[in-house]
Amino acid sequence: MQSPAIKQALGILKQLRQITESSEDVAHKLADILKTIAEAMQADAAVCYAVVDKNYLDLFSTYGLEKTKNKQTRLRFGEGTIGQIANDKRSLALNNLWMYPKFAAESELVGKDYKSFMGAPILQWNRTVGVLAIYHCAETEYSDVDIELLETIAMFLAEIMSSTEMSEYKKSLNKSRGLATRDRMKGVSLSKGYGIGTAIVHKRRQSVTNIFAEDKDKELLRLQVAYQQMNEDLENKFASTKLGLGEHVEILDAYRMFAKDKGWYGKIERNINNGLSAEAAVERAYEDMWNRLSQSSDVYMRERLHDLRDVSDRLLSYLLGENKKTKVIDDKDIVIVAQTMGPAELMDYDYGRIRGLILEDGTPTMHVAIVAKTLNIPVLSKIKGIFTEIHNGQTVAVDGNEGWVYVNPSKQVADGFRKKVQENIELAKKWAALRNLPSVTKDKQKIGQYLNVGLPLDFDYIETTNCDGVGLYRTEIPFMASETMPDVNRQVAYYKDLIARSGDKKVIFRSLDVGSDKLLPYWAYSGEANPAIGWRSIRITLDRRAILRQQIRAFLQAAVGHELNVMFPMISDYAEFIDAKETLMLELEKEKKKGMPVPKKINVGLMIEVPSVLFQLDEILPEADFVSVGTNDLAQFIFACDRGNPKLLDRYDVLSAPFLSVMKTIVDKAKQYGVYCSVCGEMASNPIEALALIGLGYRNLSSNGASFGRIKGMIRSINCAEVADYMQNLLRSPRASVRSQLISYANDHGIEIY
Ligand code: PEP
Ligand code: MG
Repeated sequence: MQSPAIKQALGILKQLRQITESSEDVAHKLADILKTIAEAMQADAAVCYAVVDKNYLDLFSTYGLEKTKNKQTRLRFGEGTIGQIANDKRSLALNNLWMYPKFAAESELVGKDYKSFMGAPILQWNRTVGVLAIYHCAETEYSDVDIELLETIAMFLAEIMSSTEMSEYKKSLNKSRGLATRDRMKGVSLSKGYGIGTAIVHKRRQSVTNIFAEDKDKELLRLQVAYQQMNEDLENKFASTKLGLGEHVEILDAYRMFAKDKGWYGKIERNINNGLSAEAAVERAYEDMWNRLSQSSDVYMRERLHDLRDVSDRLLSYLLGENKKTKVIDDKDIVIVAQTMGPAELMDYDYGRIRGLILEDGTPTMHVAIVAKTLNIPVLSKIKGIFTEIHNGQTVAVDGNEGWVYVNPSKQVADGFRKKVQENIELAKKWAALRNLPSVTKDKQKIGQYLNVGLPLDFDYIETTNCDGVGLYRTEIPFMASETMPDVNRQVAYYKDLIARSGDKKVIFRSLDVGSDKLLPYWAYSGEANPAIGWRSIRITLDRRAILRQQIRAFLQAAVGHELNVMFPMISDYAEFIDAKETLMLELEKEKKKGMPVPKKINVGLMIEVPSVLFQLDEILPEADFVSVGTNDLAQFIFACDRGNPKLLDRYDVLSAPFLSVMKTIVDKAKQYGVYCSVCGEMASNPIEALALIGLGYRNLSSNGASFGRIKGMIRSINCAEVADYMQNLLRSPRASVRSQLISYANDHGIEIY
């Protein structure tokens, strides 16, 4: 038996589908759709609002309402009944609209005749993309069935609201109203360069487009197959890892929780029996649960919603056949648009084709930005409402230098972009031509130029840049790219490959630095409140020492006959460094006892990225063979400023007196103890920041392969002694940032800071 609401919806939806498939333009289609809805629900008026950006909704279409011309047709999120629905993502039914405190008659353009109101949010990927509402002149008590019906129709409208046709219509409507069209949007550049390609909206959640299904048995079978397949895969994944840790454990537990009470699965089955497709049934089951639990004050119950979202997404990906790891995309050049993403998710795409990355929320030291930079991909962040402006399949041009995104650029703009891409290629050629020239300043100071590497494709830069060596090998990157935890032999193969590619050049291996935003797909992360200062990096590997021992063994075996440099990340004090160092020495002794060959020489160092070590440098430095400053983490801890929080993106600058003073203290102390010192954080990959570092006394910089040439260009254009003098003044500057002064200095002195 189909539920009355679904039965009625089926009839309406059939009509709506006919309308959407007609050849009319979208404005007429919307008007016809509202008329159909109003008639079917015996309403006197109907409205459809669309989200313009994160803050506003525009009235897009009406049926039956008084004339709306020349009146304000824009509502803020939270304003009036419509704004409230958009904000809360929750339906609202009122038998007496005029008694409702939030009702804003003026803005909502509703005349006295209308007494009752019912509205539902139009959601896509759990974001409000619009609001659908109906009005009755007579006082009307709405039943649950009525609400369910409106919600089901809203689900159907989500598809239309997010279509390319609709976005074009929105633009033309805004233009005719004299509102700015957003075919150009400003963001913050996280990685320079230009790129143009087809937009691919990266979504964790799948969008459901087929809502109804005629053949229930077929849908039930699809559900059963997907459900079984998902669980089998989860169980296999669970069994294939020897560690008692893993994201899968959480997922499995969550799944078990839902499977146990049979409530979730049963609800999906019921939704299918009521006429929904398997995908829509999964979404509906989630929405029901969300409606019930999201307002609960019980944290545990709210947390369960995350689990349910996760399991629902997973099941949807199986139903939609999107559970394969690598995303197959036909377009040659692509621009990825994402709310935020981890570096491992970027690896799901074919990097060779990525021409740009647009993140709604992102910061320069986020790992996905670092990885993208290595791949020479321009990255932009902090663009409000990108998901309402950019849709799959549109052409998008990314200007990583100035921070602009162009949607469906005109031929003129597109040609301009292609020209800039070409100019960048020329600039890259110019830097490549520096390959065989030394990294020496005008006053003959040698600056050691090293590379940060992670992915095997970074290894190519060792040859193409002719660098002095590898200053940072982020060993967690191959771990992240792997489906399962690499054992010692696999690790030895990775490390040997890097050593072979480096020849006699110095290579610094960093022990596993996971946690925070670098998550391994096969490990559990227990949802810490503050992951950046939580159980991560050396804290994990000292607690799970077998992992550290295995990795050290792999380093020792891979570097037989070579010099081995190992550094430990996130060291917080002397004792922690000594503990890690002794673990390495113990493994070395074991290898020797077994009669195994060992590296020619072993140097043990640490990263300086936790402020507490600054106060123990006199104890630590005599024990260290080298140090490398991780300015990304160090800056976030010095300023107490989350490196991944876009709200704080421009708040503090590493080019300011407090941070520069910290950097000066480190390099001076290292000199005092005769300890090799370098910088491997992003500061060393940014020409103006690297200039400041040289001025402070740093002589070794380790940067991304993509930035190597521009850093060399800068080095070869400076006079070291003069920069050092200039930096002395800046160290006392009371300003929040000395960046503009430093840029002016560079421009006045012909320093290349592209
Ligand atoms: C740093 O923190 O500066 C650093 C190089 O480490 P990562 O960016 O990998 O955390
Ligand atoms: Mg770090």
